[in-house]
Amino acid sequence: MSESQQVILNHEAGSGVPLTLRNVSIVYRTRKGEVQAVRDVSLDLHAGESIALIGESGSGKTTLGLGIVRLLVKSAEVTAGEITYRRDGKEIGVLALNKNALREFRWKECSMVFQSALNAFNPVIRIWDQMRDTAQSHGWKDKKAIRQRSLELLRFVQLDADRVIDAYPHELSGGMRQRVLIALSLLLDPQVLILDEPTTALDILTQRTIIDLLRKLKDEQHFTMIFISHDLAIAAELADRIATMYAGRIVELGSSDDIFYRPRHPYTLGLIRAVPKVVGDFQELFSIPGSPPDLIDLPSGCKFHPRCPYATDRCREEEPDLETVGPDHMAACWHWQDVEKELQTKPLHSVA
Ligand code: SF4
Repeated sequence: MSESQQVILNHEAGSGVPLTLRNVSIVYRTRKGEVQAVRDVSLDLHAGESIALIGESGSGKTTLGLGIVRLLVKSAEVTAGEITYRRDGKEIGVLALNKNALREFRWKECSMVFQSALNAFNPVIRIWDQMRDTAQSHGWKDKKAIRQRSLELLRFVQLDADRVIDAYPHELSGGMRQRVLIALSLLLDPQVLILDEPTTALDILTQRTIIDLLRKLKDEQHFTMIFISHDLAIAAELADRIATMYAGRIVELGSSDDIFYRPRHPYTLGLIRAVPKVVGDFQELFSIPGSPPDLIDLPSGCKFHPRCPYATDRCREEEPDLETVGPDHMAACWHWQDVEKELQTKPLHSVA
């Protein structure tokens, strides 16, 4: 058994649904009005599965992640829906948890790794003290055992554990801090990990190290993961399923292969076409015209209609729900068959 596999993480692949979202809506209350950041999102996250939420900034991805672990800012509120978490046959209504139960839930069941590793640490507290504080505040008393566990996890994320554990955050590079943050999030052995833009702001080689690490978590430790990413290549590499979000809603949901090779929503198609290619003939870079809608004053009908090349009068009047467009593949579009037809004549290339 490799050193990394010695880390005791109590996971089983492929059984049950640890997290269910039903019709979840989240708004931010601002002076200008209610920002409808997440609208009527339903999702089942299966044990051992990794799912990527993709979409432009402001599509609701991060708000949804924060809503799941109930770390929304004060001005935000889950206005509708249910979030249910399951472990050992027990069901937990996440939205009904009290303060203490919520703290336990956030570290022991469902942990979130935030976008900026730089800001996540207290700069004047050594890594060891941050890890020890976290463990002790959850009832661990044995300092020696905490240190042992912390060293194991730092080794698991491929750091020089003996050096890093006594370092201050500013002594570590961005990539090292990101790995420490992942180790910290694993300290209490959560079942579900939510990673918000895990490789943003890292150089390309460091990105590769983080991707390899996440792959290891997925393949060897069978973590159930939600990736929030605007980087489609990372989503393609790490996710079993992908949910495209637009204006707070999931507009397409399918396997990675379905999304990248058989997209049925014009927005997903636009995102894929906008990925620059590094091989083949030079082509002008495609971009989706216009910009994401004002979430305080959403357009009528399908929220993508002002930017959509397939839009018709029906699109301007009625918002479509997700419908089945293939096995385990759903899209919310009145004209998904037109996308299918277009792809038969103009096939996509891989983005991975
Ligand atoms: Fe475009 Fe209409 Fe489909 Fe919306 S419903 S994505 S506007 S074709």
